[in-house]
Amino acid sequence: MLILRGGRVIDPRSGTEQVADVAVDGGSVVAVGPSLAAEGASEGAAVVDVTGLVVGPGFVDLHSHVHSIAGQRLQALDGVTTTLDLEAGLMPVEHAYARAAADGRVLHYGFSASWGDARATVHLGATPAADLHASLQVLGDPAWQRSSSPSERAAWLRLLESELDAGALGIGVLMGYAPRTDPDEFLDVARLAARTGTATFTHVREIIEADPTTPIDGSLEIVRAAAESGAAMHHCHVNSTSRRHVDRVLGLLDSARADGSRVTVEAYPYGAGSTAIGAYFLAPERLGAWGLQPSSIRLVTTGEQVASVARLTELRATDPGAVCVVSFLDEESPEDAALLQRALAFPDSIVASDAMHVQWPDGSTDSREWPLPDGGQTHPRTAGTFSRSLRRMVVETGAWSWTEAFRRCSYLPAQVVAGFAPAARTKGWLGVGADADLVVVDPATVSDRATYVDPTRPSVGVRHLLVDGTFVVRDGSLDVGAFPGRPIRAALS
Ligand SMILES: [Zn+2]
Repeated sequence: MLILRGGRVIDPRSGTEQVADVAVDGGSVVAVGPSLAAEGASEGAAVVDVTGLVVGPGFVDLHSHVHSIAGQRLQALDGVTTTLDLEAGLMPVEHAYARAAADGRVLHYGFSASWGDARATVHLGATPAADLHASLQVLGDPAWQRSSSPSERAAWLRLLESELDAGALGIGVLMGYAPRTDPDEFLDVARLAARTGTATFTHVREIIEADPTTPIDGSLEIVRAAAESGAAMHHCHVNSTSRRHVDRVLGLLDSARADGSRVTVEAYPYGAGSTAIGAYFLAPERLGAWGLQPSSIRLVTTGEQVASVARLTELRATDPGAVCVVSFLDEESPEDAALLQRALAFPDSIVASDAMHVQWPDGSTDSREWPLPDGGQTHPRTAGTFSRSLRRMVVETGAWSWTEAFRRCSYLPAQVVAGFAPAARTKGWLGVGADADLVVVDPATVSDRATYVDPTRPSVGVRHLLVDGTFVVRDGSLDVGAFPGRPIRAALS
């Protein structure tokens, strides 16, 4: 038995904060209340004093592409206890779960069924190997991007359904990478989610302000499909797909929710995105719609800032899966910073990182070394999203109470998958019977430290992190021997 003594204990499910002790036995919280430590000490429980610190359920990240020990360690120091890749997904999902279990994972993990890989299987004859890097390579392929024939559509819908049967956590839809496809295809995906009681997680196609010729406004498509199908539909990173039109998009989502649609939304607090350079929306002729230049794009591995249209065209042809960082807002401008603030402040907006794997100059994307070897590159959101959100929204502006912060970072995201993932039902809240996935934060120091120049600097202020009752972080230091992460899978009813 372990007792965290005297912290400010937050339960976002009940909306309560109290100074109390938290008792953990095995992987569960077994008691919350005053003076447990005094009683427990006589029975030999280990007692850790957390006076003055905030104790809450670990963060549940619905949008993490890291799939690595290195990436998960950065996220652990950012307060995350569960990392789910729901936007892109991996196929075959069975393979993804088996590999994570064989390698060992620091944090809990799970994957959606990959719409992108299902289309690649049918359109290109690809054989996906649950490898995000390979999946990124196909996103620029016109044969992958085109609309499916009726028989092709039926074939990839069958693939997606078999992935859901195998435990995939809903369906991840990279619509923004195939944005000219027939909107009727997306409706079929929504109907599949509704029929199976799961959900969709969508990177939306271009919004109308960016492309007046789009078959449908990308955000309106979510709202329409949710209303027509009744499915639970999650709008990924509303900050990066809406940019300076975020107020219009959030208003749209607000009215859909008021009408009873099961629409949820997430955001991360950065003014740059990160994706494969072959993405549809990074074509030279598409940049102008967003007020971008080739120089708005920087390659992650080499640091090369793209100098010209000719160079961009060359990079897209030779290495379309190369990961880049794209600046779409100016974080230093008060107006743009306010846009990011509003995306997070929106009622029920969920914090999700869109964490990307760390890449080293030799091409590797994982390391068991800690601290991480020098030279690793990624987007700073990988290491800093949650601490930055806490610093900005709780500490600096008071926009959120701690209870509200844990509701955005832990409870609401767990609820998005809890309907079809039984393991998520005991996550995201703190009370007797909850999983012992706990984060202990120092409110005086919590902050991100990762920057665009130095993106693998871990956040500070996470004093302790327990995953399934095991310390991953203790007294601010990572335990390099801790691999308590477990799979989170769907169980269709
Ligand atoms: Zn995305």
